[in-house]
Amino acid sequence: MGMLEVKDLQVFYDNIQALKGISLEINEGEVVSIIGANGAGKTTTLKTISGLITPKSGSIIFEGKNLLKEKAHNICKLGIAQVPEGRRIFSQLAVKDNLKLGQFTVKDSAEKKEEDRANFYKVFPRMSERKNQSAGTLSGGEQQMLAMGRALMSRPKLLILDEPSMGLSPLFVKEIFEVIKHLKEKGTTILLVEQNAKMALSISDRAYVIETGEIVLEGKAKDLLYNDRVKKAYLGG
Ligand code: ATP
Repeated sequence: MGMLEVKDLQVFYDNIQALKGISLEINEGEVVSIIGANGAGKTTTLKTISGLITPKSGSIIFEGKNLLKEKAHNICKLGIAQVPEGRRIFSQLAVKDNLKLGQFTVKDSAEKKEEDRANFYKVFPRMSERKNQSAGTLSGGEQQMLAMGRALMSRPKLLILDEPSMGLSPLFVKEIFEVIKHLKEKGTTILLVEQNAKMALSISDRAYVIETGEIVLEGKAKDLLYNDRVKKAYLGG
């Protein structure tokens, strides 16, 4: 059984059906991506998993627990951390305090929490130099790193990333993907939503292609990179 099992999700916004029966599965240690065009339903899928949207029908089972019976803050406590599209860091607070907020639900000693933060600074040296700076003064790419760091501070079992490369310069996109690769090597389970299909597929184990609320293709990321339909629609021919 997978760590996360999503079955036949149907989601409506008023009378518009955004998800028409989405099913997907993530196993421990996997990086799985969802690719698709604007408005396909990627963000809606993620928000439903993290409890921000209630589906009309379907099921979401995480480590054997039915998430549809849990409130969003409990889902976070169960070990799912989502980095939303557009980041949402606390811009008035210092970088280090943003990280500390991510540790709110961690039940461990202050020393261990400090160790977690130190590990983050090791992976993101750029953040170390900016610990005391207010987060709002960071560049877009740095804010994305901080948002990922804050999510990681909660020691999630499943890290969900919504469009981490959005709006970033090519150099930062590369850097963000390097970080995701590093997390993967450490065994972090990741669900990734990306417009940048090429990058996403190149670091994922498996992927799902979503079009107008439905999964139209799924498979090993390596195979999808060479799939004609994927190439035409998402990889620029
Ligand atoms: P993008 O990459 O542009 O964010 P997406 O694949 O994440 O796209 P969703 O944001 O999940 O797509 O949107 C799926 C569909 O649901 C779209 O048609 C969108 O217009 C609609 N939708 C999303 N949020 C709402 C809302 N709050 N109210 C009404 N319709 C919505």
